Amino acid sequence: MSQRHPMVAGNWKMHGSRAANLALVEGVLAGTVPGAEVVLCPPFVYLADLAPRLAGGAVQLGAQDVCAEPHHGAYTGEVSADMLRDVGCRYVIVGHSERRALYGETDAIVARKVLTALAAGLQPIICVGEQLEDRDAGRTEAVVSEQLEAVLSALADSANGLTALDQCVLAYEPVWAIGTGRTASPEQAQQVHAFIRGRIANRDATISESVRVLYGGSVKPGNARELFGMADVDGGLIGGASLKADEFVAIIAAAVAR
Ligand code: PEP
Repeated sequence: MSQRHPMVAGNWKMHGSRAANLALVEGVLAGTVPGAEVVLCPPFVYLADLAPRLAGGAVQLGAQDVCAEPHHGAYTGEVSADMLRDVGCRYVIVGHSERRALYGETDAIVARKVLTALAAGLQPIICVGEQLEDRDAGRTEAVVSEQLEAVLSALADSANGLTALDQCVLAYEPVWAIGTGRTASPEQAQQVHAFIRGRIANRDATISESVRVLYGGSVKPGNARELFGMADVDGGLIGGASLKADEFVAIIAAAVAR
């Protein structure tokens, strides 16, 4: 098994309330076992509420999105990377399939968000993944490659070059498995994870070995251990099951046991 430190990140999406969030966080803090990096990504408005409870502890704070613009200004409704840092975020999810599909985020926008996040000292969790019709048409690798290469090229062309990838986490999330209860088999996940690592290795073999690649898509306590047991799966990005403390901590335990 690899030396990569496993990670489990919870994407709460547009769920929660102040009261419900605090109960959920207490449940996660009480049940989390050491041995994996744990990240909670609540909606923007709750970040500052949760930051003091998580500060200095084992669980990190992350946001679900960030504005691509690097400087403050007239961008109504947007939240900057500096603001996310200011309220205590370490991570930010970038390029989630719901952002791509529902809000028109292109590969170019995703790449800009990655650079903006990194420049502010945030660590992006970069999501890639194919639609069901892509998979059925045998286009999984082509789609994932296109999404990934947009980010890798932007990083390679940036001031710090591809080395900045060591501040990033990748997440393979087949769109057909997100929120559907239909999970990729461990073998299907491993195949794409190995493909992702291979594409990175084409540019930098050392970084390809150290960068974490999470799996996301209907991960539950019952399937987490098998998925996380695959050689190139370094943990999970969890949607629905991150809203229930007992399920989320069981998934963390599965990542620790891998
Ligand atoms: C997600 O939205 O990133 C996700 C993986 O959701 P779920 O676990 O609910 O499929």
